[in-house]
Amino acid sequence: MISFDEAYKIIEKGFNEIKPETEKVLLERSLHRTLAEDVIADVDLPPFNNSAMDGIAVKYNENINEWKIVGEISAGNYEEFELNNNSAVTIMTGSRLPEFCDTIIPVEDIELNKDTASLKEDAQFRKGMSIRKKGSDLANGELAIPKNTFLKPRHLAAAASCGKSELSVYKKLNVGVMATGDELIPVNEKPSGDKIRISNTYSLLAVIDELNMNAVDLGIVSDEKILLLQNIADALNSNIDILITTGGVSVGKFDYVKDVFEEIGVEIIFWKAAIKPGKPIVFGTFNCGGHSKLIFGLPGNPVSSLVNFEIFIRENINKLYNQPKRDYIEAVLQNNLKKIDMKRHFMRGILSTTTDGKNEVSSEFTQSSGSLVEMSKANCLMIIEEETINPMKGKIVKCMMI
Ligand code: AMP
Ligand code: MG
Repeated sequence: MISFDEAYKIIEKGFNEIKPETEKVLLERSLHRTLAEDVIADVDLPPFNNSAMDGIAVKYNENINEWKIVGEISAGNYEEFELNNNSAVTIMTGSRLPEFCDTIIPVEDIELNKDTASLKEDAQFRKGMSIRKKGSDLANGELAIPKNTFLKPRHLAAAASCGKSELSVYKKLNVGVMATGDELIPVNEKPSGDKIRISNTYSLLAVIDELNMNAVDLGIVSDEKILLLQNIADALNSNIDILITTGGVSVGKFDYVKDVFEEIGVEIIFWKAAIKPGKPIVFGTFNCGGHSKLIFGLPGNPVSSLVNFEIFIRENINKLYNQPKRDYIEAVLQNNLKKIDMKRHFMRGILSTTTDGKNEVSSEFTQSSGSLVEMSKANCLMIIEEETINPMKGKIVKCMMI
């Protein structure tokens, strides 16, 4: 059995082999995708000198404080006017500045009397004020948004002004989720006898969705070797990049998943990590026409499978796509916890901040990996390191938000 750190490094190396392809998407569909090209300005931004305020446009002269208004320019409706040092035009924000003028006086700083504008006594008056110069935001040919940027709303306006109605982005990974177990029945059926509703698939599909990847539901396969062989082989030969199975990776008599992986040609890199929950995890790679696919056999317990995803997969997808990193927060433990082994534990906790800004984490509920409703109350995983035994109330623990 390997340690968490060793397991993480192996999985990280697996992710380094994945090279997402690129595709074009419409600008309006590009939010939370990762840019696969540099976005370069194809014009000066702004494309012309313009006014930053509603006011009047004048030629600066420190001795002149009164102007005759000879016209009006609004945004998008530029007109030429005969201008001299003693004349001005009314101008609106975003309107193109007449060649002759170099300064805007905001409307708040002038007094208008018929067609004469005069500077108010206390008004500031500086050459060049309230002008947005052509190319001052970005000059034609300059880099607006670098390749590999994870696109947030603020980037889309920048891309739009560079004329990009489509953007080249990295394709989403196709992540397949297959549940295994004879006991599983669909959600819309009522369990009787020894059946339970399939649940962990829904957390996993959701967390894949949350990362803006393509979640592919591969359904439920029963614990029959021949069916597992067929379904897993089909999945591996489809267009998925990552296969996640749940269940059947422990040491039970009907836990065939690992054997099936091996028979199909998955290179198993490790089985079992010294973690709790989620110890029986299997990780391997499958070579499909030169492409390396990542294969995760996660235990079936809904808590274990989701925790395994959170600690091994989410961070790596974040990294691959330059997505923002998850938050880690240190907090003061509010109750004693039981931990007597040398594994790394990821305990469910509720983190909150007191009115005086202190982070506290409590965990009054059970840490059983079968207790999925209990888990739904938690908002973080407390990372309890290998060498820590029975952490006590008052200890500072590191928490990853989930
Ligand atoms: P396994 O990893 O197959 O030994 O399963 C461990 C536990 O998780 C058992 O109690 C299973 O019934 C349960 N389990 C397995 N798969 C699922 C699933 N997809 N949804 C909910 N519970 C599951
Ligand atoms: Mg099972």
